Amino acid sequence: MKLKEYRKKRDFKKTSEPKGKTGGKNIFVVQKHDASHLHYDFRLMIDGVLKSWAVPKGPSLNPKDKRLAIETEDHPADYSNFEGIIEEGYGKGTVMLWDKGSFKNFTEKDDKNLSLKDAYNHGYIAFELKGKKLKGRFAITRFKEDKWLLMKKKDSYSDARVNILKKDKSVKSGKSLKEIEKK
Ligand code: MN
Repeated sequence: MKLKEYRKKRDFKKTSEPKGKTGGKNIFVVQKHDASHLHYDFRLMIDGVLKSWAVPKGPSLNPKDKRLAIETEDHPADYSNFEGIIEEGYGKGTVMLWDKGSFKNFTEKDDKNLSLKDAYNHGYIAFELKGKKLKGRFAITRFKEDKWLLMKKKDSYSDARVNILKKDKSVKSGKSLKEIEKK
């Protein structure tokens, strides 16, 4: 059971988060999560579940930025629509659907294309995002246990001058975090 840890951490009588479906297309999401520490949850659909990383500083369009991404438990496919308030328990706080879209795997090793699953197992995934905010090529690399680095690759979408985090409204509701908190 891939989602065992996800379900174990939550009491579904108390949280409005989805209990969980698996499967689906290559989607990615970024959820801005105002929990005990504000962070951005970056999720990529791999093998039917959303592989998940908490990125304290959020994604950057500057290829020189190495953003720490701490791997967290796999999330269900239908979490990609979740926005709202986690009233109590694990992850308590407000969640905004900050970005969403499709992605394409282009991980290579020794001149061969790697499947997403193999790329994940090798600890290096290169992908192209087609979100509303994040576009172009990125890569995420494991360097120690659950610690990875999320980086923008150089392409026509990379830009050292733009702070993409200033685009601070939900792609689902158009709301700010404060507006989501008010329900
Ligand atoms: Mn989170």
